[in-house]
Amino acid sequence: MISIAIDGPSGAGKSTLARSVAAKLGYLYVDTGAIYRTIAYHTYESGIDPKDEDRVLAALPGLDIRLTHGPEGLQHMLLNGRDVTKDIRLPEVSLRASAVSAYPGVRAFLLEMQRQLARSNNVIMDGRDIGTVVLPDADVKIFLTASAEARARRRMAELEQRGTPQPFETILREIEERDYNDSHRAAAPLKQAEDAVLLDTTALDFRQSEEALLAIIRERIKL
Ligand code: C5P
Repeated sequence: MISIAIDGPSGAGKSTLARSVAAKLGYLYVDTGAIYRTIAYHTYESGIDPKDEDRVLAALPGLDIRLTHGPEGLQHMLLNGRDVTKDIRLPEVSLRASAVSAYPGVRAFLLEMQRQLARSNNVIMDGRDIGTVVLPDADVKIFLTASAEARARRRMAELEQRGTPQPFETILREIEERDYNDSHRAAAPLKQAEDAVLLDTTALDFRQSEEALLAIIRERIKL
């Protein structure tokens, strides 16, 4: 099985790019952020304070988290049998995901599930610690980034399109806060793996970013 690990900060375009490249290569696309978001969503709907580590950890054994793929390759998240794919995108869930994902107990709970997916499929997996912790032996590792301003601009356009616009400053602040949380936590912080290729998409549009990503992959796995 072939594994491609894509890590990087929020809003660098990882999911859109990884999904599109996975479809081109016929690989399974795994969005690991969605798995953390599913736990975060559970804390949101059951009124658990995400800062209360003990309560968050105590809730884990009661959670059956599954990932399925629709015919169009879109990943769906199931929480105790319920499809929460849309709910986990609520803005309230984003910062909560960043908070709960800092707990080593939460990361350990999800580790095997992620590795199992890569054992049984050719995957493109995106996240924060895929190349460093989850799949240290991945065939290709890419660290995908862009400036915080560029990421905030893209996120603003995306929210406008969805009919839920937010001011640039608010979006930028949230991105910076998540960057800080994700890269300063003790458990599996966001950082570039030593053997990862850096791809900075600040000055690239979608098509150029996709071409650059495919070129890196092709060079390493000789498709
Ligand atoms: O990628 P996305 O923004 O959906 O991820 C939500 C949050 O989940 C991130 O801010 C990060 O804190 C966390 N995460 C993580 N490790 C991963 C994927 C996501 O800690 N592999």
